[in-house]
Amino acid sequence: MSYAVISDVHSNIEALDAVLEDIDNRKIESVLFTGDAVGYGPNPNEVLASLRERADVLIAGNHDWAAIGLADLERFNPNAREAVLWTMGVLSEESKNIIRIFQIAKRLEEEDVFLVHSSPGSPEEWRYLITYSDAEEAFRQFGEGVCFTGHSHHPFILERLPDGRMGTHYNSLELSRNCRYIINAGSVGQPRDRDPRACYVIFDGLRTEFVRVSYPVEKTQEKMRLAGLPGPLIERLSHGL
Ligand code: ZN
Repeated sequence: MSYAVISDVHSNIEALDAVLEDIDNRKIESVLFTGDAVGYGPNPNEVLASLRERADVLIAGNHDWAAIGLADLERFNPNAREAVLWTMGVLSEESKNIIRIFQIAKRLEEEDVFLVHSSPGSPEEWRYLITYSDAEEAFRQFGEGVCFTGHSHHPFILERLPDGRMGTHYNSLELSRNCRYIINAGSVGQPRDRDPRACYVIFDGLRTEFVRVSYPVEKTQEKMRLAGLPGPLIERLSHGL
């Protein structure tokens, strides 16, 4: 079975359309979404409808919860908060109902895979995995061989060897049965690794690979301007920041 893991779409329908087209061209069988459908961008309703139709698993992110009043807005920086408030104002009832079916975490037993937006042990705290000690803790919090996450918008593959040593990879990797992995799928709609192209990850149980897809960034930016979304959120899309 082949999977595409997509994360952090953030209401960017141009980026999502480009990624889904690439997924179709590669004949990938299943799409798994690891959270943050909305926030930052101009098309939350369109993104939610598309994810609902295309993804086999829908995981909740902090921006999704915030948009339906479940996450504390005080924990968002001012621009992110402004975008959440804008999103709340335009979300249809149907879209809110789609967010309500999002799961906080999910085990794919047939593939020995765990899916979550932030940390596997306490997903609803929306913590970031920054240091190797955070990673050590995270590896204790799920039992599967592979955990896919999103949240930081930085794609990486963290590999834990049987003796506990860890290494980080950024492109593609043959997975070893003896090792365990935390794989951040990066971000479809607002990459932050200085590559403005949409990012997602392919996985077939044996091998994993990051894919970058160009999309019409200016089109998204123009819609953001018309919507009156904060300038820095518009600008960052040009730079992948
Ligand atoms: Zn995000």
